[in-house]
Amino acid sequence: MLLTLSMVLGTSLILSAIVYYFERWRLARPGGPYAAADFSGVIILSAMAIGWLASPHQPPAQDHAKLIWLWISSTLVFIVAAITDQFKSVRGLRALAAALAAWLLYDAGIAIATVKVPFSTTFVSLGGSALIVGMAWLALCGSLFARTGTLPRVSLGVGALTSLTFVVVAMLEPANATYAGMMAAATIALICLAQFPFTAYLTHGGATAGSYTLGVLIGALAIEGALKNTAFLVALLPLLVISVPLFASAYAWIADWRRGHRRNLFGRRTRHVHEMLAEQGYSENQTSLVLLLGTAMVCALAVLLVMLIKVSFIIKAVVLAAGLLGALIVPYVVLRLMKPVNPSRPDDEYDLLGVRIHRVTMEEAMERVAHFIRLDTPHLIVTTDAGGVIRARDDEEVRHIINHAALITADGAGVVLAARLLNLGIDTRVAGCDMVAEMCRVAAAMNRSVYFLGAAPGVADKASEKLREQIPGLQVAGVRDGYFTPEQEAEIVADIRRTKPAVLFVALGAPRQEKWIVKHMEQLGVPACIGIGGSLDVISGLKKRAPLWMQRCGLEWLYRTAKEPTRLGRLTALPRIIILAFAELVRAPRQKEN
Ligand code: UDP
Repeated sequence: MLLTLSMVLGTSLILSAIVYYFERWRLARPGGPYAAADFSGVIILSAMAIGWLASPHQPPAQDHAKLIWLWISSTLVFIVAAITDQFKSVRGLRALAAALAAWLLYDAGIAIATVKVPFSTTFVSLGGSALIVGMAWLALCGSLFARTGTLPRVSLGVGALTSLTFVVVAMLEPANATYAGMMAAATIALICLAQFPFTAYLTHGGATAGSYTLGVLIGALAIEGALKNTAFLVALLPLLVISVPLFASAYAWIADWRRGHRRNLFGRRTRHVHEMLAEQGYSENQTSLVLLLGTAMVCALAVLLVMLIKVSFIIKAVVLAAGLLGALIVPYVVLRLMKPVNPSRPDDEYDLLGVRIHRVTMEEAMERVAHFIRLDTPHLIVTTDAGGVIRARDDEEVRHIINHAALITADGAGVVLAARLLNLGIDTRVAGCDMVAEMCRVAAAMNRSVYFLGAAPGVADKASEKLREQIPGLQVAGVRDGYFTPEQEAEIVADIRRTKPAVLFVALGAPRQEKWIVKHMEQLGVPACIGIGGSLDVISGLKKRAPLWMQRCGLEWLYRTAKEPTRLGRLTALPRIIILAFAELVRAPRQKEN
C-alpha cells in the first residue's frame, strides 16, 4: 500500500510542478486556450491511474475492480464536465454523467446499501432506492464542489481534509472500512495535498471540470469508505456552507437590517460566501484560510463523534451541537480579526462632491478587474472626469449609476485637482484610454476575450487590430460600431451574451455608455463592463492624443479642445468643479484634515 501511495504522490507532485511551470511560461507569453481547472482534473486522474494500475502491489481482486471502476467513472465525469465547461448552457449534462457514474459504481459494489439512523446503532436498508439516492448524492457533491472552482485552494483543501478524515475514520473503525475505500481516500488526499503548493497557476475563468470531478470522487469515497453519518457531516456540511447562497443571503440581510435598510431577500442575485468575502476585500488566501478552518473543525468533529461512538445519545448530541456552532463561530472570529487585504471601503473610497471615487493606481485597478473576472458576475467600471462629476451632481440617474459602480477611477486633471484640494489623497489619474490596453492585457493573461462596442464604423476594428498587434494572445470576441438603432440593440446584446467576453468596452460617449451598460448588464453577463468614451478613436489612430508632456501637466483637455472646438462647451465643468471643491473646503474644513 505504501508503495502505491508513494507512486500517487510522486506522480501528482511531478505533474503539478510541470503544469505550474508551464502556466508561468504561458502567462509570460500569452496565447492558447487552456483551462487550468482541467489540468487539475488531468492530474487527479493520471495519478490515480499510475498509482492503481502501474503499481506492482496488487490488492484483492474485488477491491482492485472497485478502484478501476472508480477511475473509469470519474474519467467519464471529467470528460463530460470539461465539455460542458466549454458550452456553459448544457451544464445539466454533467449531472447526468454523475448519475451514470453512480450507476457504474453501484454495479461495482460501491453503493449506499444502508443508512445509519443518527445516534443509534440501527441501520436502515435502502433497498431498491439505493441507486437513485447514490445518483442524487454524487450529482450533489459534484455540483457543490464545482462552486468552489473559482477558489482552487478551497477546492483542493476541502478535498484533502475530507479524504484525510475518511482515512482516519476508517482506521478508527476498521470493521466498517474496505481496502478500496482506504486506498481511494488516501490517494485523493495525497493528490490534493501535492497540488496545494502549486495552486498559483490555477487562475482560470470559471472552468470547473476539475472541481466537479473531485466532488464526485469525494461523494464516492463517502459511500465506500466511512460511516454514513460521518460521511454526511464531513462531505456535505462544509460544502453546504460554502456553496449554498442561503447562508450568504441571510448574512447580507441581517447586516442590512442592522443598518436600518430593508432588503428584498429574493430581489437580487444571491451570492456565495466566498464571493461575498471577496467583495468585502478579503483576498483569496484569507477567504480560503477561513473556509478551510471551518472545514477542518467539522472534520475534527466527525472524528470526535466516531471516537465517542459508545457514549450516550445526549452527550453525542451536545458535542455535535457545540462542534457545529464552534465551526461557524471560530472562522467568523478569525475573519473579523483579519484586516481585508484589499479593502474596498472606507480606506480607499472617497466622496468627491457627492460622487464616489476609488483611490487606486492603474496596477490596483487592474487587480480589481482580474478579481471581477474571477468572480464572473457583472460589474460596471466608470472613469469619471470633471464633466462626469458635474453631470452626476445635476442628474440623479447618472449619480445613481456612478455611485453603484464596482470601480470608479479619477480620469482627468479637473477631478485630480479637486481631489487634491479636498485632500482626498487621489493624485494619480487612471484614464479610460490607458485602461483599455491594460484591461486587454489582463483578459489575455487570464485566457479570456474582450468585446468592443462603439465609435464610427471601422474605428473599433482598427483599434482592435492595433491592440492585437501590441498584446499577443489577445482574443477579440466581437467588434461592433456605435451607430445602431434601438431595434438593433437586442441583437447586439444577444451577440455579446453568446460570445461571453470577460471585458466589454463601450464607446458611446458619457453618460450614454454607462446608461447602456446598466440597462443591459444582467443580460450581458460580462464580468467587467467599462465605458471608454472616445478612446477607440485615439487607439485606432483616427484622433491623436495629446503629447505626453501635456498629459503629464494635466493639459490634455486643452489639446482636445484646440483640436475639436465643439468641445468648448464642456470646458465649463473644469472651473465649476474647482469652485465647488473650494466651497466644500470652506464649508467643512475639519472633515478633510486626514
Ligand atoms: N459614438 C457612438 N455612437 C453614437 C455617438 C457617439 O459610437 O451614437 C462614439 C463616437 O464615435 C466617439 C465616442 O462615442 O468614439 C464618444 O467620444 P467622446 O470623445 O465624445 O466621449 P467622451 O470621451 O467625451 O466621453
